[in-house]
Amino acid sequence: MDQILYEVSDRVAVITLNRPEVANAQTMELLDDLDAAWTRAASDDQVRVIVLRANGRHFSSGHDLKDRGWSPEKITLEWIYQAEARRYLEYSLRWRNVPKPSIAAVQGKCIAGGLLLCWPCDLIVAADNAQFSDPVVHMGIGGVEYHGHTWELGARKAKEILFTGRAITAEEAEKVGMVNRVVPLDGLDAATMELAGQIAQMHPFALRQAKRAVNQTLDVQGFYAAIQSVFDIHQTGHGNALSDGGYPVLVRLEGMKERIKAQ
Ligand code: ZN
Repeated sequence: MDQILYEVSDRVAVITLNRPEVANAQTMELLDDLDAAWTRAASDDQVRVIVLRANGRHFSSGHDLKDRGWSPEKITLEWIYQAEARRYLEYSLRWRNVPKPSIAAVQGKCIAGGLLLCWPCDLIVAADNAQFSDPVVHMGIGGVEYHGHTWELGARKAKEILFTGRAITAEEAEKVGMVNRVVPLDGLDAATMELAGQIAQMHPFALRQAKRAVNQTLDVQGFYAAIQSVFDIHQTGHGNALSDGGYPVLVRLEGMKERIKAQ
């Protein structure tokens, strides 16, 4: 079964994460397919708006730590850096910069790497059961690869969720401006498609320029440079995890699961 589904109707491309049996955990292959879907939507003149959604109860449980691409004998900091620079940094930035509006529809849990899929979207519609979290501090690393936290939540809330690893609710995310609106779970797809349909009526070049105006303003404020340098800070976390008891996933995963479960 395809890990990513793609369809276009009424000028809206809908990209669907399709590994519901594992809460849309992201393999390297899934991310490559997802990037291909974004590229396809970006280059199709018939597509005015891009929707990213997920099948199943949860938007995404993050990176698939059982992905065979991550076998321990391969693990050096150089290997981690290269693999992550491409899929966890460049992909997210590329999706963020696609010159068309995008909307993420998020339900259930959106954990760590899940944030790397929804944050790059221009708008986020959250189901009322959505929960967003970045618990990787439990793994000896200071947060996920793409540091949207401070931009999305503000400095204090960003520190709180990193320091505690706790999830923020859809309602809380809306209050700080991280999501645009919260809707009942059973109305998530309809609300997202209605919003997409409304935006698809607008002039595509004006939409492109409106998006560029906002993104460029953030870049002038330092977004791009900050994202790059915090990616490198993240890598020192991998260095710490490698030197402090071996590869973090194998050594710490069980402990992390227990702590997340207890929250
Ligand atoms: Zn990493």
